[in-house]
Amino acid sequence: PIPVIAIDGPSGAGKGTLSRLVANRLGYHLLDSGALYRLTALAAMNAGVDLDNPDAVAAVARHLAVRFDAAGEDTRILLHEQDVSREIRTEAVSMNASRVAAYPPVREALLQRQRDFRQAPGLVADGRDMGTTVFPDAGVKIFLTASPEARAERRYLQLLEKGEKVDMDALVADIRERDKRDSERAVSPLKPADDAHLVDSTELTIEQVLERILSYTR
Ligand code: C5P
Repeated sequence: PIPVIAIDGPSGAGKGTLSRLVANRLGYHLLDSGALYRLTALAAMNAGVDLDNPDAVAAVARHLAVRFDAAGEDTRILLHEQDVSREIRTEAVSMNASRVAAYPPVREALLQRQRDFRQAPGLVADGRDMGTTVFPDAGVKIFLTASPEARAERRYLQLLEKGEKVDMDALVADIRERDKRDSERAVSPLKPADDAHLVDSTELTIEQVLERILSYTR
């Protein structure tokens, strides 16, 4: 079978960055599964679909016209051939993405689409349930965590770069609340696969985490 490296964990632990680095290093494809939930939310919002209606949102998910366009360092994300790379990261879309991600028919609608990313020579899959649900047979499973404080600090620096200023305590509180919601939801709650390697990035540099992950692939 085509190899899969599943990288799961809470937001802010560095999954996105690390997944891209691992994929680049190994020459593998990359699946940003969170982007699919974000795109579903955005497409539903744009179409005026009732976000409280799981079946209506699932229909949007099934028919998403999405394209991931690798452009050097970054990947452009196109919805109906329109670049929405920035738009899907807004606060409104983030909130709605986590809301629609809790609907079983939406998760079901995106399942095969995610599996279709498994192409030679291999795939790095970034998400919450890559190792548990989408690719349970992945050869390498990583569960990447970091303390809420470390994740808040990274988020703080990202926002600062964008010229936004936020309260650190509010960020930590926000992250704790999101962790609780993600790990307590009924479908695909955030938890490590039984055979996942736990990697805590709190005290590690990106380079150190990268080496650790690559060591599991050898
Ligand atoms: O990783 P990212 O923050 O882009 O994910 C957006 C939202 O999609 C998150 O709130 C998360 O709850 C949800 N998600 C999910 N399962 C995945 C990836 C993301 O439920 N595999």
